[in-house]
Amino acid sequence: MAIKQTAGRDSLGEFAPKFAQLNDDILFGEVRNREDALSLRDRSLVTVVALMAQGLVDSSFRYHLATAKQNGITRLEISEILTHAAFYAGWPKAWAAFRMAKEVWDEPQADDEKARHQRQMVFPIGAPNDGFARYFTGKSYLQPLSTAQVGVHLVTFEPGCRNNWHIHEAKQGGGQILICTAGAGYYQEWGQAPRKLSPGDVVNIPAGVKHWHGAAPDSWFSHLAIEVPGDGCATQWLEPVTGGVYGE
Ligand code: MN
Repeated sequence: MAIKQTAGRDSLGEFAPKFAQLNDDILFGEVRNREDALSLRDRSLVTVVALMAQGLVDSSFRYHLATAKQNGITRLEISEILTHAAFYAGWPKAWAAFRMAKEVWDEPQADDEKARHQRQMVFPIGAPNDGFARYFTGKSYLQPLSTAQVGVHLVTFEPGCRNNWHIHEAKQGGGQILICTAGAGYYQEWGQAPRKLSPGDVVNIPAGVKHWHGAAPDSWFSHLAIEVPGDGCATQWLEPVTGGVYGE
């Protein structure tokens, strides 16, 4: 998201109009907001490390930390970035930067994991999957990608979340194809061992086969769910999945 900067003109517009114009229009307007070679996130990373290396931990540093967070740098990442930079820039400078970073990244850890999972995908995680929540253990998210011709939905599972045993029924054709996009998960057919799933894996599920799919106990997981066209298609939802990979 491009930022319209007015700090230069607000503070120095009268006293140093050229500096204000260079700050607002060139540094922030053209360099800082240019995304064709470096993402805004990467530009934030460079800015934060350069300022930290100078020991500049004033209000402008706080502004750049807040911008870095807004541009997608997580709590886990900023802690690693500052730890790494500490060896090159100096230990006391890292201490000073950490004190401020800790205040800026004050949200719970779960948000970091969700953001990290999101960055591994080109599709948005989407909204909480409230419509199907009663057929899931744990929290899932649903993002429709195609609702014409062939239905394609992105389903994202929080760690340990999985859907109930179910059957995609059809009189002819039908069934489901899963294409794994991020994280680690499982697919299991009734009477078979669970199959571990990684990004890029494809699962062809024929109509009439009892199965479930979901996240590994310790990982977020996303797959595309493709509805294979057929006659008389309907999903029969059955009992929750317990034990096995989840050990409950
Ligand atoms: Mn299914």
